[in-house]
Amino acid sequence: MMDDVETGKINCIATKDLSRFGREHVMMDYYLEFVFPEKHIRYIAVTENEDTEKGLSDFVPFKNLFNEWFAKDTSRKVKAALRAKHAAGQRSFTYAPLGYIRHPEIKNALAIDEETKWIVEKIFDLAVHGAGAAKITKALIAEKIPTAGYLNYKRYGTFANIYAGAPEEKSYAWTISQVKSILRDETYIGNSVHNKQTNLSYKNKKRVRKPPEEWVRVENTQEAIISRDVFEQVQQQIAGRRRQMKDATTQIFAGLLKCADCGWSMSFATNKQNIVPYSYFNCTSYRQFGKERCSSHYIRYDVLYAYVLGRIRYWSQQARQGKEQLLQRLLASGSVELAAAAKKRRAELIKAEKRQAEVDRLFTKLYEDWSAERITGYNFNMLSQKYQTEQQELLEKIERLKAEQASEQQSADDAERWVKLIQKYADPTELTAELLNALIEKIVVHEAVKDETGHREQKVDIYYRFVGKID
Ligand SMILES: [Zn+2]
Repeated sequence: MMDDVETGKINCIATKDLSRFGREHVMMDYYLEFVFPEKHIRYIAVTENEDTEKGLSDFVPFKNLFNEWFAKDTSRKVKAALRAKHAAGQRSFTYAPLGYIRHPEIKNALAIDEETKWIVEKIFDLAVHGAGAAKITKALIAEKIPTAGYLNYKRYGTFANIYAGAPEEKSYAWTISQVKSILRDETYIGNSVHNKQTNLSYKNKKRVRKPPEEWVRVENTQEAIISRDVFEQVQQQIAGRRRQMKDATTQIFAGLLKCADCGWSMSFATNKQNIVPYSYFNCTSYRQFGKERCSSHYIRYDVLYAYVLGRIRYWSQQARQGKEQLLQRLLASGSVELAAAAKKRRAELIKAEKRQAEVDRLFTKLYEDWSAERITGYNFNMLSQKYQTEQQELLEKIERLKAEQASEQQSADDAERWVKLIQKYADPTELTAELLNALIEKIVVHEAVKDETGHREQKVDIYYRFVGKID
């Protein structure tokens, strides 16, 4: 029957009495308050003499409770609406991607920006003729081609904190990752891709990329700037280049090293003037823009290599000596207090859930007593207020306890995963790109400091995957 209500086949419902619905009569009020009025349905309860056309009498006490339910339903509906919006080819965006503008007539759609489209075409043209992202970035800077950020500043005044009064170079300060993301963006062949990112967990708000098979792709949502052939070819070239990078032994740190002060990547270079050539890294923004931007953050390849290998061997030994101890150390939850707290939390949750079911039962009973006129309207109002308050409190408590449990579980799972990985690469004697990428999220290089005696000291922070900085 409720399906017919939803689809609008029914415009009047009559029942003998309200309590016929048993537990579900609580649901009934939801229909009375929200669904029926919305669908213009008249409801009559014969014995209770209720008729929505005449106005309802004493349903008001329930309103708060149903508001709560209604809110949940709304959030579900918002998500469903977003999915429908995506399926219909609409996009959610703050700024149109380079080469496009917000469509002047259609909401949430893109139109080609005739003024900037050529920049995108140029980037793909360079790529399809064999240039990698680094080379393209250099070319864009050399030709002083404005970045998307600068164009937005010029047109809409956004990010004035970055661009206002900045030196001219800022307007064409392209980065390799900007170029890479343009080269991978399916927007340029007319597609919209949604659901690419998600939050890692309740505790960890960091956005993580979802695997491509979970992406939602809608084709032909706007006019393409790049042909599919060109796009495909560029994707293959990118994949090929990534394989080459992985094979090159000196590039094992590619993508992992970051400058501690400006956050840019570190560039690899080889000093060939020396009799024995040696390799080193320094900050990319320092290399591109000089002292104005950042300092060198110079670190020799062999020094970095020895340090990282040493750290990984250390953790590998720890794992071999005792997986459990290492896990506990990673979680910093070896302490008796934390285990006791978890136990207490479990007990509290069970108790709260029990009470919640109990209050639900009492509430239903109260409703039945009231509709059978076993209690007065005054008492009903008073007691129902009390139950509603308690229900709300229980609901909040249960949510909080569950969230705490979930975040604890998440960190435990993460630690376990990392320990499994380090066990897999037991006691390594050399570093490979595969090993580094499996275990390490990033390596942050600080600027070296020299003391009075000329002793040079440099801090290097290793952030491991899943467990972060653990040294
Ligand atoms: Zn830097």
